[in-house]
Order: sequence, then C-alpha cells, then structure tokens
Amino acid sequence: MDRTQAKHRIDELKALLWENSRLYYVENAPVMSDYEYDQRMHELEALEAEWPEFATADSPTRRVGSDLEEGKAESGFAKYPHKYPMLSLGNTYSIEEVEEFADRAAKSIETPFTYCCELKFDGTAICLTYRNGVLFRALTRGDGKMGDDVTENAKRIANIPHRLKGTGWPEEFEIRGEVLMPYASFDRLNHERELQEEPLFANPRNAASGSLKLQDPEEVGRRGLFCTLYHIPTGQVDYPTHDAALKAAASWGLPISDERRICRNIEEIEAFIGHWDTARKELPFPTDGIVIKINEMDIQQELGFTAKSPRWAVAYKFKAEEACTPILSIDYQVGRTGAVTPVANLQPVFLSGTMVKRATLVNEDQIRMLDIHEGDWVYVEKGGEIIPKITAVEPSKRVPGAKEPAFPTHCPDCGTPLVKPEGEARWFCPNGTGCPTQIKGRILHFLSRKAMNILAGEATVEQLYNLDLVHSPADLYTLTENQLLQLEGWKERSAARFLQSLRESRKVPFERVLFAIGIRYVGETTARDIARHFGNIEALKAASREDILAVPEVGDVIADSVYNFLRADTNLLEIARLQQAGLQFAVEAPAEKASDLLAGKTIVISGNFSISRDEMKALIEANGGKNSGSVSGKTDYLLAGTKPGPEKIKKAEELGISIIDEEQFYALIGDARSESGMTDQTEGASSPVGPEDPEPTLF
Ligand code: NAD
Repeated sequence: MDRTQAKHRIDELKALLWENSRLYYVENAPVMSDYEYDQRMHELEALEAEWPEFATADSPTRRVGSDLEEGKAESGFAKYPHKYPMLSLGNTYSIEEVEEFADRAAKSIETPFTYCCELKFDGTAICLTYRNGVLFRALTRGDGKMGDDVTENAKRIANIPHRLKGTGWPEEFEIRGEVLMPYASFDRLNHERELQEEPLFANPRNAASGSLKLQDPEEVGRRGLFCTLYHIPTGQVDYPTHDAALKAAASWGLPISDERRICRNIEEIEAFIGHWDTARKELPFPTDGIVIKINEMDIQQELGFTAKSPRWAVAYKFKAEEACTPILSIDYQVGRTGAVTPVANLQPVFLSGTMVKRATLVNEDQIRMLDIHEGDWVYVEKGGEIIPKITAVEPSKRVPGAKEPAFPTHCPDCGTPLVKPEGEARWFCPNGTGCPTQIKGRILHFLSRKAMNILAGEATVEQLYNLDLVHSPADLYTLTENQLLQLEGWKERSAARFLQSLRESRKVPFERVLFAIGIRYVGETTARDIARHFGNIEALKAASREDILAVPEVGDVIADSVYNFLRADTNLLEIARLQQAGLQFAVEAPAEKASDLLAGKTIVISGNFSISRDEMKALIEANGGKNSGSVSGKTDYLLAGTKPGPEKIKKAEELGISIIDEEQFYALIGDARSESGMTDQTEGASSPVGPEDPEPTLF
C-alpha cells in the first residue's frame, strides 16, 4: 500500500468507525457486529502505527466512543465532568495476544505480582459517587471526560444502595461498574415492544444503555436492570490490591461480583477463560469476555494509561454465539397495523441462555438477500433479540431441488390482496377494519399497560371478538355486566373488576389515549410530544401536515401517518365514540396564561437551566410563545442554557438569530428572577467536582 492509498484507507476507516460508534452509543441501534467493528479498529491501529503522520488526535483509536448526543435533540440530562476520565479497555479475541500481554508484564515488572481476572459484563458503564455514605451522583461514561447525570434513574435500580453500610468508606469516593439487563427482563421488554410494534432493542446491552437514559425514572425502575461494580479509581482508598478494594466495597453493601479469581500465571488465566467460555452460557445476564487486570495497585500506577485504555489491563472477548439449525416452516404473521412479517420455525437449538425455536426473516427482501430456500440450514445469532436473527444459509446442507418460499400475495388471515406502499419494505394487509388479526391486535394494544392499562389480555379479547361483542376499542365502553358474564370462566367479580378498570381508564391522560388509538409509527414518546404540542384532539385534527412536522422529533413519515389517520372516516368515528365514552382528549390543566409577551415568537431552547427543560417550555407557552425543536429561519430566539448544543449555536449564528441566556429570557417576560442573578446556583450548573487535571484512571 502506498502513501496515498494508506491515507485514503485511514480516512475511510475513521469515517466508518465514527458512524458506527454513533449508531452503537447514541442510537443504541448498531448495524455492524462487535467483532467486525473491532477488526476494523485493529486495522486502523496497524495503519496508524505504520503511517504515524496520518494519526490524528480525534482518531477513534485515541478516543473512547461517546454516548453524548451531540447534534441530536439534547438528552435532557445535566452533564458533569468525571473526576477521573472513564476510559475503555484494550481488547483482543486471541489467547496469543493475552499471552503477549502477560509476557510483557512479566518482563517489565520486577516485583512479584498477580492478576485479578473478572467477567466482562456486557452492559453500559456507570460511575457512582458516594458522599458521606450516601449516593450522591451517578454519571454515564459520556465521552469519557463528561457524563450524563442519571442519578434519579440509578436510584431506581434495585441493587444500587442509596446508603452504605459498615465502616471504613472514604468521605467521598467514586466507584465504577456496569448497568446490565438480564436476558429475562430483555425478552419481556422486547416482547412488549413487539406487541406495540415499536422497534426492538438489538441486544441487552443496547436495552440497558437506552433504559438508563430514559427521562422517566419510574419506567427505569420497571426495566429490571441491575448493577455490578468493579473498580474504585486509584488513590481514593488505601488498599494494596484491586481485589482487596473490591472486598471492602462489598462489605459496604455495594454490588460486587464474586466471579473473579486471582491468577498467578498465564496457565491460570487460560483456565479461567476456558471455564467461562462455556459457563457463561448459563449466566442469566450477558457477558462478552474476561478482563485481566494486574492486581497490585502500586504496579497499576506505575504502568499508567494510553489515551484510551490502561496499560495494566486487557479484555479477552468472546465471539458472538451462533448456531446452525434447519428451517421447519415459515409463518407469515399479520401485526396490528397490517404489516406481514415472515417468521421461520426452526428445529429448536440452545443459544445464549435460551432455547431458540423461531427467528424473524424481517421481510421479503431479506429472504431474497439471504437466498433462503425451504428446509435450509441457517445460522442464527441471538444478539439477544426476543426473536433472533437469521444471518446466513449453510449452502452445503441444501436439499437438491429445494424451492424458494413463496411470499403470500393475500393476507394469511382475511384473504385480502396485500399491498406494498411506496418506500416500504414490508407488505401490508390493507383491510384494517375487517381483518380479524388487525382488529384484535388494535384492541390489545389499546388495553395494554402503557396505553389504557385495562385489565384484560389476549384470551379475553379473543372471546369478546368471537362473541361479536367488541370490534373496536370504543365497543369496550358499551359492554354490560350481562355480556361479560357470557365469557367463559367469568363471574360477577371478574366482570366488576373489568368494568372498574374501564371506568378508571377514563382518567388516562390524553397523551396515552393518543398512543392507545394506534396510529402507525406513533410510539409512547411521539404521542406525548404531539399531545403536548397541540393540547387537544380538535387542534390536532385541524393541523396541516406542516403543523405536525413542527413537533420536535416528528419527521415526514410520522407526520404523514398522523395526518392521514385523521382523514379516515372510520378513525374519526372511532375517536368521536371514545370521546363520547368520556376518555381524555385534551391535556390536563393547560398551563395558566401568564402573559402575551411572547405572542408570535418561536423559541428554541438548548442546554440546561435552573428549572427543568419541560418547565422552561411551559413557561414559554404560558407567555404566549411557541416552542420549536430546531433552529430555522422561523426562529425568533435561541434560548441557551449551560452546555447548549454547538450545532444549534452555529446555525443560529449563521442565520443571525438572537441568542439569549436564561436571565435575558426572564427579563423578556418580566419575571422577577431576571433581577436576582439566578444562574449557576443549582446542581444543574456544571462545576467540576474534583481536581482540575486529575490523574486518568480506568473505566
Ligand atoms: P469495551 O466494551 O470493549 O470494554 C471496556 C468496557 O468494558 C468498560 O468501559 C466497562 O464498561 C466494561 N467492563 C465490563 N466488565 C468490566 C470489568 N470487569 N472490568 C472493567 N471493565 C469492564 O469497550 P467500550 O469502549 O465500552 O466499547 C468498545 C467496544 O464496543 C468495541 O470494542 C466494540 O466491540 C463495541 N462497539 C461496537 C460497535 C458496533 O457497531 N457494533 C460500535 C462501537 C463499539
């Protein structure tokens, strides 16, 4: 490879790794396997070593992947600097490289030393600070220097103690570890999302990371997360070894895994790796390797760090598990929105802790791309999905003459010819009002916990539908006790409970009702944003496509879907019947109008303020202003708090839009806070909590 080719390949790899890092850390939706990502990273490292003139400081080889949402709608979390940078780990998939690491250590270290070998937990990193024995702050890794403050969420994770027990903990210290989602919680979560036709999480790691960043701490508490801690940054406690520090932390009630071993040589390390390569399959949570750390604190300090990882630790990573098994048959499932998904029934095979019997084939294009034939043996990868993915066919096992599966032309349930809307990869049954699966699916979605939370499940819906009692959600509100008593196994008590939960559902706020009525692509968050933006269903019905597009985070596809939904007579009739039944179709207690001082003004907020971002938005509306998510020619002010999004500032400057701070904003609305020098007085304003230029440390 000559110089020009090397430069070209380096640039190409950097762009590829940056983009995939963003998809992985920010979107929680990776498209590349970890193995492939790591191979590309190693290729870039090798090229940069050979051509050091092309190795820039911003290269992915020199920075930890960042989960901070730059350029995206801000995360809504306050950001704080880490007292000690949170770094990554050098990693390898080869035992030889672990041997080289041990060889180098043995040659360069003169005093006797040991290794502490631990599981590499596959979740998302967290840094907890305890002050006077009480949980003070929890930060994500962020970009390694600065993390999102997720303290309220961390407090909802059952095994993170709010208060330490025992004695001997320092007055203030940081401890680091991983927040994990066990397979069982992950399967449950994705199952719920599947029922609601929300995008599934690719694996438990992404689900843990996405859950830790939710804005609703109560929901975080329901996600079944747990935490395991594995590192107290050097210098905060006085123990001779890493292992001794962890033992002390365990005695303070902190969750520390017992699955670690002190090894004296490479043979013992290899035995530990060999054991867990198999034994990890029985663990109820995901791990992706083994971490080998030099145990003695003084040696750790001596060896120090590279820009990205410690020199005294290395991770040995296990390759993603896959299995090869034959397809027995293919089902074509119709969802509540009419989408038809091919699902392969497989000869059951054990994979990543569960027996896999079915795998999604996604859509017709995917079947063609994988070149699936009937009876093929296929490779299945369980990145953790509730329905795992088929990644390839084993051609050597194809039965001669095997046919390609014929994708149905008609709905497998109601027989209506399928359609493929423009720009869609999926086929749909267009018979929304007559297709039994879609009707039952919509009712089930309406009843679900996150929607109307009515006490009934699949079996009840099936019976209500088969007895011709319910064909749409609005029919539920016409049910009488006598009708309910016709259901198999139902007595007065079950009927009364059901009717009571229907009555209670009348109090469910508009934003959840909007989610419950099942507009395609409108998940919980979008429904909330739309409900808050328009305030009531009448305003939403009157909205143009462009008005809907003005809702932050709403793009063309969602805007079209909402607009078209509200143009169909059947949907309007259903909404009218639900209104008549007494459901909420307006946001509760609209903010009291304080003034008209911002009438006609469109304001974009960015960064953090002394009040929450929602409160700030409410204040804008209460003074007659309009909130918008992105800066455009129509924006009047960019209201910038601490740490505003750089993209927004840049755009506002380019467009010559006034950028005001919180104090100037209060002055605009004649609020007394403008005279009190309100800024920076809260915890929300970031101020370093430690030394200015601290020693770097791991994780
Ligand atoms: P990493 O996950 O490979 O290793 C470092 C992390 O391991 C630490 O930050 C810590 O959170 C965790 N860890 C778990 N158990 C630990 C223990 N016992 N002791 C110490 N640390 C422990 O590194 P990373 O920087 O978080 O992520 C980089 C990796 O992420 C890549 O190597 C790649 O596999 C994956 N990735 C994949 C993609 C993709 O597109 N598939 C994109 C970006 C990153």
